[in-house]
Amino acid sequence: MNETETLESVDTDTGEYFDVLIIGAGISGVGSAYHLQTQCPGKSYVILETKDTFGGTWVTHTYPGIRSDSDLYTFGYRFKPWVGAPIASADEILKYMGEVIEENALDEHIRYRHRNDRAEWSSTEKLWRVDATDLDTGETKRFSTSFLWACQGYYHHEQGYTPDWPGMEDFQGQIVHPQTWPENIDLTGKKVVCIGSGATAATLVPAIADDCEHVTLLQRSPTYFYPASNQNELADRLRQIGIEEETVHRIVRQQILFDQDELTRRCQTEPDAVRQELLEGVKAYLGEDYPIEEHFGPTYRPWQQRLAFLPDGDMFQGIAAGKASVVTDTIESFTETGIQLTSGQHLDADIIITATGFNLSVLGNIDFTVDGQRVDFADTVTWRGMMFTGVPNLVWVFGYFRASWTLRVDMLGDFVCRLLNHMDAKGARQVEVQLSPEEETMERLPWGNPDDFNPGYLMRRMHLLPKRLDKYEWQHTQDYWREKDEFPKIDLDGPALKYS
Ligand SMILES: Cc1cc2nc3c(=O)[nH]c(=O)nc-3n(C[C@H](O)[C@H](O)[C@H](O)COP(=O)(O)OP(=O)(O)OC[C@H]3O[C@@H](n4cnc5c(N)ncnc54)[C@H](O)[C@@H]3O)c2cc1C
Repeated sequence: MNETETLESVDTDTGEYFDVLIIGAGISGVGSAYHLQTQCPGKSYVILETKDTFGGTWVTHTYPGIRSDSDLYTFGYRFKPWVGAPIASADEILKYMGEVIEENALDEHIRYRHRNDRAEWSSTEKLWRVDATDLDTGETKRFSTSFLWACQGYYHHEQGYTPDWPGMEDFQGQIVHPQTWPENIDLTGKKVVCIGSGATAATLVPAIADDCEHVTLLQRSPTYFYPASNQNELADRLRQIGIEEETVHRIVRQQILFDQDELTRRCQTEPDAVRQELLEGVKAYLGEDYPIEEHFGPTYRPWQQRLAFLPDGDMFQGIAAGKASVVTDTIESFTETGIQLTSGQHLDADIIITATGFNLSVLGNIDFTVDGQRVDFADTVTWRGMMFTGVPNLVWVFGYFRASWTLRVDMLGDFVCRLLNHMDAKGARQVEVQLSPEEETMERLPWGNPDDFNPGYLMRRMHLLPKRLDKYEWQHTQDYWREKDEFPKIDLDGPALKYS
């Protein structure tokens, strides 16, 4: 007897049935639920969420200063105007999401403290059986669904990534990761070293600079920062002349996306000029004598990694005021009193913050099987960064890195609803993506192109992610500007989609 027969013959319990099951109540899950109930009003659905509230990323991260690094006109949904300053705190984002949930009565569909552990697809029944642990009782609860909408993000929420440096156990002070920020930590009068050079470090350093005796940002290599004031002049002007918020939202989104498109293009066609402009932006805060190339002049092209936005140049202001400083060096070891650097310098520290990133998670640590066979997503090929060969009736919402993540939540929302309505019209119960015979012979490449975009958390775990082909339909292009025109026109009866 093979595994398929075991599953099909023994496990007949289908539990509570929903047409669609959404995993995760972060910004992706909430947006997807809105689209589903608006564009497929007849479908029943449930959202399973591990945490005891909505928000995902914006609940997990509680470190000082936690905020978006993209503007909320585009990080906000297409359908709900953003009325505040472009860069928003986690609390403001949660308030916005709370309004979306309340205005659309989404709450009654969310089961909090339900961790989705297993999902088994049966091609005979055309059904996913989904097991979730009820974290209050420890009980396993069975659900079944025709379609899985995977909105569980891309990293482990429990713990961030900390490299293993020699001597860590010798350090007598406290080591803290921003993803698990201790509630009662007291930084007053402390010497703090913050390791990292990304958006998190850039947010934290100015937010704690006033409390500490001194904070040092220790980076192995520099990042591009983009300082600008946290306001949108066009939005302010439109409001001043009495334009209603829906229109302000639509126009300002359009303006920001136009400008970003131009910047992305320039980063590719004239990277040296863009680099120079970014370095000039730093100079305006730190002056001619500051070693800008050493600390803020990366060797990679602008936007090969996310450009970190600094509202009002807050980190540079901290440096200019002498409350914060930057050291670009490598760590030789931790010592009892701080960090020994390869250059010979020693950084004294009472507290070391490791803003060193995330642990990538592929589809939320869920055990997937299809007809009794365990799914290893690394063996699949992705269709448009959302569906996977050999895995029917499942879409993963994986947003953009260079543009706001949520732009793709809205776009995939439209696509999935169009697909579900199309299946109903055809009487199909299963949809799967399939490679053509020619595509079958193409080389399977890693999920992301390291030449195009190469953040550490992706590079570390790339081997776990689905593969792509050198063909834009079979990859996550990370190109919002291309997809926004293409996605609405995808031929649902095209050769890549197989129905039964
Ligand atoms: C500090 C920080 C700042 C960021 N700022 C920006 C920004 O400004 N702009 C931008 O575009 N992107 C930003 N990002 C990227 C950001 O993660 C995404 O934009 C977005 O918040 C992801 O939303 P999500 O709903 O897809 O995933 P998440 O926010 O990760 O939410 C996923 C949810 O799914 C739940 N879940 C996971 N697995 C399971 C399971 N097995 N069962 C049940 N529930 C599960 C989790 O508990 C969580 O609530 C930032 C990320 C971080 C960490």
